[in-house]
Amino acid sequence: MKLVFLGPPGAGKGTQAERICKRFGTVHISTGDMLRHEMEMQTPLGKIAAELINDGHLVPDEVVFRMVCERIEKAEHGFLLDGFPRTLSQAHMLATVTDIDFAVNIDVPKDRLINRIVRRRSCPECETVYDLGELPNGEFCKKCGRKLVIRKDDTPETAQERFRVYAERTMPIIRYYEAEGKLLNINGDCSKDDVEKQILAGFGEDMV
Ligand code: AMP
Repeated sequence: MKLVFLGPPGAGKGTQAERICKRFGTVHISTGDMLRHEMEMQTPLGKIAAELINDGHLVPDEVVFRMVCERIEKAEHGFLLDGFPRTLSQAHMLATVTDIDFAVNIDVPKDRLINRIVRRRSCPECETVYDLGELPNGEFCKKCGRKLVIRKDDTPETAQERFRVYAERTMPIIRYYEAEGKLLNINGDCSKDDVEKQILAGFGEDMV
């Protein structure tokens, strides 16, 4: 299965991507996670990315595309792209190297998103995300034990810029995949289990 997950910041793409990948054994490719890893390692790319990401801006298309290509070449049994493409140009670049089965668009009203983002605590090691209401004891990740952090781009100010960038640069992709007949619209404003059920129903019986 070859999937693209779309949605505004805080829509729950990462959480649902993890569930779907576990269920189908699909390779999870998150460009945000890859870039944050580069930042943590303080590589030359990580240093450039940090400035852009912390201000809510996008990393250049060619840079992200190169990272994605290296991963999808190795993913013989399918992949799930989480956070890529984020511009129409990235969607066109992707189409030159592979076809996808579905573009899953998880949507949530904006007033709910801000609340989700500012309540979010993330593991810098394995990227698991927690809501303030479900924090493990001592704020250490349940999976890998690292101390949870607030992502630098999860402030209300940066979140507003990320929404603006999303509306301007990423939303046109939704229409692109709709025209291709690949779009699955999902209501992300419900429980994690219900969102997952909608996604599975959207894949249809052939895929599940
Ligand atoms: P995410 O974890 O998907 O919310 O991504 C965090 C940040 O990484 C985004 O706000 C962008 O600055 C950057 N980023 C992630 N994916 C892409 C992409 N496909 N194109 C450009 N920038 C990206």
